[in-house]
Amino acid sequence: MVRRRDAFDFVAMRARRHETLECGRTRRWACAIATAHLFGICSKHRRGFGDSSLASRRDGTIQCDLAGTTRSMRCLLVADLHYSLQQYDWVTEVAGDFDVVVIAGDHLDLSSMVDFRAQSVVVRKYIAKLTAKTQLLVCSGNHDLDTRDETGEKVSRWILGARDCGVPCDGDSFVFSDTLFTVCPWWDGPTVRGAIEALLAADAKKRPRRWIWVHHAPPASSATSWDGVRHHGDADLRRWILQYRPDFVLCGHVHQSPFRQGGSWADCVGPTWVFNAGHQFGRPPAHVILDCEQQRALWFSAAGNQIVRLDRALRRPIEKLIELPGWLAVKGPDLDPSPA
Ligand SMILES: [Zn+2]
Ligand SMILES: [Zn+2]
Repeated sequence: MVRRRDAFDFVAMRARRHETLECGRTRRWACAIATAHLFGICSKHRRGFGDSSLASRRDGTIQCDLAGTTRSMRCLLVADLHYSLQQYDWVTEVAGDFDVVVIAGDHLDLSSMVDFRAQSVVVRKYIAKLTAKTQLLVCSGNHDLDTRDETGEKVSRWILGARDCGVPCDGDSFVFSDTLFTVCPWWDGPTVRGAIEALLAADAKKRPRRWIWVHHAPPASSATSWDGVRHHGDADLRRWILQYRPDFVLCGHVHQSPFRQGGSWADCVGPTWVFNAGHQFGRPPAHVILDCEQQRALWFSAAGNQIVRLDRALRRPIEKLIELPGWLAVKGPDLDPSPA
């Protein structure tokens, strides 16, 4: 048996960490350096990564092709870190184990005693650290809005600085191997909402094998937006999901959803899988691992660990996770099969 905390903090305990890091690091360095090259940050490192190529398509999509890739993408989703430095530390430590890490909004905390600008400076530093370890994607949440656009709508300006590190963020499209990511900003009014609508319409025309949206708020009328009393989801997002039928939508925002009766970290809207890991205090944050090779999504939290099989219809109650996939196997005792 393992201690309660270890039951979901297994990622840091990986038995085969070295082996996977070596494999992953090679691929991710190729990606990160090529991404930097694209943004004009780095031009000297491109030599030596002849197997990979990254280019900005004519339509503006950032593309990372990984020639020789033998397995599908492994993606870590967290959101609502709300300036928890211990949670950012954890993400930074484990980031190298994943092909893609998504932080889906609410990086900062409006109620913090720390000055908002100071928070954004610190988080930008974490973003820079993460880019050295993996392909990172970030979007804004309602706690990240620091200015207004020309129409008076609240927007996040600071988060756009992530592009200086080669990190796709609000309004970007990004192709990683055979997957298109569409990164949506938090919308506060019709201008930004219209921009998201246009972005989705444009990306729908270039959809590859897999299409993933990053959007802070979950869709309306979904278990992922239920707080135990009512839904707090986005009705427009739900409409867009039903219209375009992406494969996955990665969210956050409604902190309680996975922990309330009737709520969940996973849901299906039409054929689309929607995930919201939820929010918990301390280290590690609640998180979802999307394993496209094994066709599994795994949820880890202080309230327990669960698994859904992406190649089957969603069934409730969702299955408890009692065995880790080989690549996540822990050293020492088995994962505690009982809920934490
Ligand atoms: Zn939040
Ligand atoms: Zn939020």
